[in-house]
Amino acid sequence: MSEDPSTRIALVTGAGRGIGKAIAEALADAGHTVLCISKNPTSCGAVADAINQSGGKAHALAVDVADGNAVAEAAAELSKEHGTIEILVNNAGITRDGLLFRMSDEDWDSVIQTNLTSCFHWCRALGRPMTRSRWGRIVNISSVTGVVGNAGQANYAAAKSGMIGLTKTLAKEFAGRNVTVNAVAPGFIQTDMTEGLSDEVKEAASKFIPLKRFGVVEDISHIVEFLCSPKAGYITGQVFSVDGGMAM
Ligand code: NAP
Repeated sequence: MSEDPSTRIALVTGAGRGIGKAIAEALADAGHTVLCISKNPTSCGAVADAINQSGGKAHALAVDVADGNAVAEAAAELSKEHGTIEILVNNAGITRDGLLFRMSDEDWDSVIQTNLTSCFHWCRALGRPMTRSRWGRIVNISSVTGVVGNAGQANYAAAKSGMIGLTKTLAKEFAGRNVTVNAVAPGFIQTDMTEGLSDEVKEAASKFIPLKRFGVVEDISHIVEFLCSPKAGYITGQVFSVDGGMAM
């Protein structure tokens, strides 16, 4: 374990765009070395390059998080190269929306595998060295959909609720080793994921959100950076809704 909180190694999945990119930047600004993971090498590579050019420390690796073997190999390779990864942010995620009767097995499986099973694989691979070093932070990016459900998102809601159960269970398993595990549940945040929504859906959603607007990526990255900091050492097993009041 590093005694200097500014020299920890952090790994962020889905760091190529949107919320994950903002989290990678915030953790780099806090002084951590950030390992940026995304599916496409170009997106995580560009984020790592920008962090390095602005004086931070980052490395990029393309990993398909839905592939358990690829996650295990990447975790082993990165740990060998950089030492114990003490901060893990499971952020990579996809949607394949549709009402239940029209949802294919493929859409169900890909969302569960990418959003939930990936989280299990990264936590299993990196949790052991973290518990051995007696310091660690895991933050799982869930969703308001995982807290309250949403018609047309059975696969996504199941995955995001599953992340909450996994978070609370690992918080209990790892607490004795000074490793905290928390979840953040964003509402509608302006990213590529919500860019595809029609103007009508965006307008209707904004009316429904108590704060009457979509959030920005920094709304999520700020709380994640805090949860990964020494100041958050007495917080574990919690789910933080950052959704403009949707889940209250
Ligand atoms: P986004 O803009 O679509 O970016 C998703 C990121 O995940 C990309 O970097 C993408 O990699 C990566 N990714 C997707 N599948 C992957 C795979 N199989 N292997 C590796 N990386 C993969 O998404 P976002 O809006 O920032 O969302 C980030 C997280 O927040 C997701 O878990 C999402 O469910 C959650 N969330 C978002 C919102 C919202 O309103 N935006 C609300 C609630 C929860 P590439 O760059 O290589 O494509």
